[in-house]
Amino acid sequence: MIIATTVAEVREHVQSWKMNGLSIGLVPTMGFLHEGHASLMERATRECDRVVVSIFVNPIQFGPTEDLESYPRDFESDSALCAEKGVALVFHPEATEMYAPDFCTYVDMDRVTKTLCGASRPTHFRGVCTVVSKLINITKPDRSYFGQKDAQQLAVVRRMVRDLDMDVEIIGCPIVRETDGLAKSSRNTYLRPEERIAALVLSRALGAGRQMVAEGGRDSNEILSVMRSVIDTEPLARIDYVEIVDGVSMQPIESVNTGTLIAMAVYIGRTRLIDNFIVGE
Ligand code: AMP
Repeated sequence: MIIATTVAEVREHVQSWKMNGLSIGLVPTMGFLHEGHASLMERATRECDRVVVSIFVNPIQFGPTEDLESYPRDFESDSALCAEKGVALVFHPEATEMYAPDFCTYVDMDRVTKTLCGASRPTHFRGVCTVVSKLINITKPDRSYFGQKDAQQLAVVRRMVRDLDMDVEIIGCPIVRETDGLAKSSRNTYLRPEERIAALVLSRALGAGRQMVAEGGRDSNEILSVMRSVIDTEPLARIDYVEIVDGVSMQPIESVNTGTLIAMAVYIGRTRLIDNFIVGE
């Protein structure tokens, strides 16, 4: 497995793969890899001749008061997992390799980025769109793989690729959970033992929403109020948002349908966790 830290090195390998007619899969990550990331790599290695995993804690997608400095990092264990999954190349650049001191070009998106996580993290998706564009330009993938865990990110990337005519197929992959239901996340490592237990309130609230829909509930406000009341029973939890939105536009809708996204962000102590499900999936 190749470990590349510069854009030029990646380009060299990509070029020779392309010349040999090999297909390329890209899995963008911020590292501290877990089974959620592994599921993306597995799908990518099944579908593509060469898989590139990027491991880059992208500074421009963090707000000024967010956890950029403390974000967990473990490159050795990450690269071992990538090797085990058959990844061809790990791209692990420094921030200075990605962002020149006079960097000033950003990919910005309206509407889809303004709700949910975008409402509480106003510059987040500008950072995501910019880095994903750069990674696509650097690795020229046939397909790129994203987790449904970050449902809005997936919707934003799909829209960006469509709006900007990027020649790459975006593949969404299901959420991987711990056995007790907590969605796997690099940020779960922040949770103290009592917070780890409290964090189960997210999947419990989603379960309550899912059950209401399964029993024929359609009214968003009714479903949301039940879900919020489940979260309110947990003293360590503080709701950032719980929303029901159209699965493509990310705009609130009054009545749920197949494809509707039911999503939440909840602080457990100081750790902000997200989770969601799509109606009918
Ligand atoms: P991150 O390293 O958190 O930026 O995540 C990199 C990619 O892995 C994103 O596309 C995430 O949606 C995906 N991912 C993270 N956690 C999970 C999970 N539990 N299940 C599925 N995909 C995930």
